[in-house]
Amino acid sequence: MSAEMHIETLAIHAGHTPDPATGAVMSPIHLSTTFERAADGSYPSGYVYTRTANPNRHELEATLAALEGGAAAAAFASGLAATGAIFQALAPGDHVLFPDDVYFGAGRLLRELMAPWGLRYSIVNMADLDAVRAAVRPQTRLVWVETPSNPLLKITDIAAVAEIAHAAGARCAVDNTWPSPIGQQPLALGADLVMHATTKYLGGHSDVLGGAVIVREADEFFERIRLIQTIGGAVPSPFDCWLLLRSLRTLPYRMRGHSANAQHVAEFLAEHPAVAAVHYPGLPTHPGHAVARRQMKLYGGMLSIQVRGGVEEAMAVAARVRLFTRATSLGGVESLIEHRASVEGAHTTTPANLLRLSIGLEHPDDLIADLAQALAR
Ligand SMILES: *Cc1c(COP(=O)(O)O)cnc(C)c1O
Repeated sequence: MSAEMHIETLAIHAGHTPDPATGAVMSPIHLSTTFERAADGSYPSGYVYTRTANPNRHELEATLAALEGGAAAAAFASGLAATGAIFQALAPGDHVLFPDDVYFGAGRLLRELMAPWGLRYSIVNMADLDAVRAAVRPQTRLVWVETPSNPLLKITDIAAVAEIAHAAGARCAVDNTWPSPIGQQPLALGADLVMHATTKYLGGHSDVLGGAVIVREADEFFERIRLIQTIGGAVPSPFDCWLLLRSLRTLPYRMRGHSANAQHVAEFLAEHPAVAAVHYPGLPTHPGHAVARRQMKLYGGMLSIQVRGGVEEAMAVAARVRLFTRATSLGGVESLIEHRASVEGAHTTTPANLLRLSIGLEHPDDLIADLAQALAR
């Protein structure tokens, strides 16, 4: 598949041809755990055992690499398994720069599993380049970026942070779960690794858990990630890979819908007297808007609001919605609302009056009508 092709075309055709054995236009699901060896001891198909490699996983990885413009990809059983593979590919004693506003589970992974294993880390405001520069140490080997961040939608300048990382001899990894490769392409901006919770927009229907790492270069660091995938064993099932591939075919169109809807909803909320703040990078008033406009193609379907009246009123608004579903997670066709601080629990730095919204593919006027009635006192 030519890298020159448009992303809509790549999403449908990359990594995929009709099944040579049957002519099936869509891939069969290869549930077999083991593959036949020829009389001479070789493996004519290239497949040996499904933990090491599986045709559905192979197809998913090829498609993900094409969509992110990467050299290779490794698919995992969850977003956190993919994040953990990047951390584990470092060495004990290495230092990681980590953002202050970030997916909460990634922070727990670093604090509760990787720090005891020997990784050192500093928490830094990734939206402040001087703070990033000042936090670099001689042992810094990885700078972790999540932009827009979770749940405050802070914007990090990927090109600038990648440059700081490279000058320090470190890699720059970007959690690209929220924008998806349709909204933002970190490798083209200079990042070395992209991580996805495929659970979210790439899956798109809230029915599959998965993760992936995509790399600009298939170097020795990626070989370690591949080893962690195949020997660590946190691989996705063939069915999960097949579901993800099915979803990826429509990703460009879903992302346009999510983003257009979120922009409408954000503009409505920005004018609403019961809302103290709207965090959405598509709003010209957002402090990261200029950087976002430069590095994003779409601003995505996620936004958060701070409700006037504190935590009680935030909970009351969440209790009054009818079309939005009160649930964690994001990226599905259905709109979700969540009081984020109570999900994050101890260690949360999320404001108590914050509600996080995953804007789905319903008609935006229906979403706005639901929020209007929920915000009315
Ligand atoms: C959900 C999420 C993750 C973790 O993915 P899991 O599949 O739940 O392990 C990581 N980063 C971001 C931004 C997420 O939204």
